[in-house]
Amino acid sequence: MASQTGAIVQQSLNALMGDQAFLPHLQDQSREQVFLSLAAILSTPNKVHKAFLRITLDNGNVVRIPAYRIQHNDTLGPYKGGIRFHEMVNEEEVTNLAALMTLKNALHEVPFGGGKGGVIINPRDYSARELYLICKKYVQYFSDILGPDKDIPAPDMGSGEREMDWMMAEYKSIHPGQPYLGSFTGKSVINGGSLGRREATGKGVYFTFRYLIHDFLKSQSSWLAGSTNTFAQSALALKDRPLTIAVQGFGNVGSITALEAYKCSYLQNKVVAVSDRNVTLYNPDGLSIPSLIDYALLHKGDLPDTEEALAALNLKAQILKREDVLYLDVDVLILAALEEQVRKDNVEQVKARMIVEGANAPVTGEADEALTARGVLIIPDILANAGGVIVSYFEWLQGRDTQFLSEEQVYKMLYDKMQHTLNGILPAFFGEPFTLRQNCYNHAVMKLSNVLYKLGKLY
Ligand code: GLU
Repeated sequence: MASQTGAIVQQSLNALMGDQAFLPHLQDQSREQVFLSLAAILSTPNKVHKAFLRITLDNGNVVRIPAYRIQHNDTLGPYKGGIRFHEMVNEEEVTNLAALMTLKNALHEVPFGGGKGGVIINPRDYSARELYLICKKYVQYFSDILGPDKDIPAPDMGSGEREMDWMMAEYKSIHPGQPYLGSFTGKSVINGGSLGRREATGKGVYFTFRYLIHDFLKSQSSWLAGSTNTFAQSALALKDRPLTIAVQGFGNVGSITALEAYKCSYLQNKVVAVSDRNVTLYNPDGLSIPSLIDYALLHKGDLPDTEEALAALNLKAQILKREDVLYLDVDVLILAALEEQVRKDNVEQVKARMIVEGANAPVTGEADEALTARGVLIIPDILANAGGVIVSYFEWLQGRDTQFLSEEQVYKMLYDKMQHTLNGILPAFFGEPFTLRQNCYNHAVMKLSNVLYKLGKLY
């Protein structure tokens, strides 16, 4: 497991080992042994699958495209996690993301294990036909290890509904007569996808932030005011006042999170900046997110990046460099683009009072420490961006029942589930010395450890 996730899991194990209420009958050498077993199990994936997909490009050339499926842990259910289409995909990254899925599912009580896939391409460089072949081949090469009760992929960066539809179709052809609706999630609604799945991650990111900063703080403000916890003070400083928000990334997660923030009038949010791979748009008076979404839909997902394009939209904004979104003087920075965006070398320039991780692992371990030392409250990926996999779970259930839920039902179930997790985490977080990330990991690791112990896997 790559460094950051692995190090935090180890810290959770250390905390759990010292907690005598956990498995109290285990003492001394047998206690140590059980924790060494846990560290061995959680720090390594169960299986690493790699293939070189053979594809005939539109120009007639035959190429081999490296692809992964990494199955980290299936203690709590079938492996589950997206397939990333990106040129920076590599084994270490996919392994780390697969481990994060194991922990995310454990934290939110989603009955799945953790897995992740990756294809090393820039999807923008391939035609629709070539991408179709890549999706078909991915399923052909990994057909034995995938399936509704084995390993259920979903979209991730660079992939979406279209790819999941193609993959499910191929799975169905390879396994005739077998259940197939639950083989992939994040499909289009017409092909058995769930209403609300596309918006689920972004809605969940905003819900997590809103619940913490508004609902939770409101109901708990009296004891929090007396708390010496630095983060309680950081959070209270943001309560009941207009907040300025910057969102990095304007894809499926960033655009929906920005829209939710824009629409949530009672928090008096102002989305003052958004960014994508080309540009940051900044207006201290707030940006019209619906107009920007409409523009992006017509322009391959890109934001306007010229004065003319902004004027045509009747929109006022300063055009800044794409990385400038990270350094604006705002209350809240929502990171919904790539990983490792806030690092040791740029963390000093980040001015936001609060960070929400919409993407997976956008803050490196060193940056996380520096921000924490400054009292910046970070809502970690594992907590904030689980909306996607939670609604994937609902999609999988709906595929089994062939009974489908309304959009309102999906969002209600999503928010209920996230609220349940938040209510289990937040009181402990504000009362303990651990960061919110460490608290979430502690919770997930405790759950996995308990189950593994009871299954007899640790001795
Ligand atoms: N790729 C998403 C994630 O990182 C969703 C995974 C899923 O729906 O299985 O959480």
